[in-house]
Amino acid sequence: MEQMALEDFNRLANGDRVTLVLALELLLQNGRNTIQREEPLKLVAACKERIGGFFEEGALQEIVDVCRQLTALDTNILVDFIQRGSLDMKAPGAEEAGICPVCGGELEYVDTIRSDNGGFAVWTCPDCGATGKEGYDEVFDQHYDVKDGDGKPFPAPAE
Ligand SMILES: [Zn+2]
Repeated sequence: MEQMALEDFNRLANGDRVTLVLALELLLQNGRNTIQREEPLKLVAACKERIGGFFEEGALQEIVDVCRQLTALDTNILVDFIQRGSLDMKAPGAEEAGICPVCGGELEYVDTIRSDNGGFAVWTCPDCGATGKEGYDEVFDQHYDVKDGDGKPFPAPAE
């Protein structure tokens, strides 16, 4: 089996994300040894039992095939692909640059403040009137000083 490269990983992440995510899920649930030991056809059958209702047999074979390619990667390489590649998964509720943390609207930048090791971009949200600053630590860090359209801090401070 040919070793998966970062560009193969990205091709899946951009083009066939569901297959890649389900292949990762399959790997995490069963572990490298089980996936490598088990007959691919048996794995497909096991997948069919669990998620088969939503997928064609060919799609399940593809998931198992990608999963087997993932097991061929060393853990540090797989983690590197996940970090540097195009999969770009976020924790639920994770903050995102350019997105209003109050309403999810697109932010408008009104000013930037540079500092030695990064800086802030001052923003307003045209949709809900919220204001705030995005912190940059070379790259996007998190939102600061968010106030909603009524000028109240967001999220509301704990009592
Ligand atoms: Zn907003």
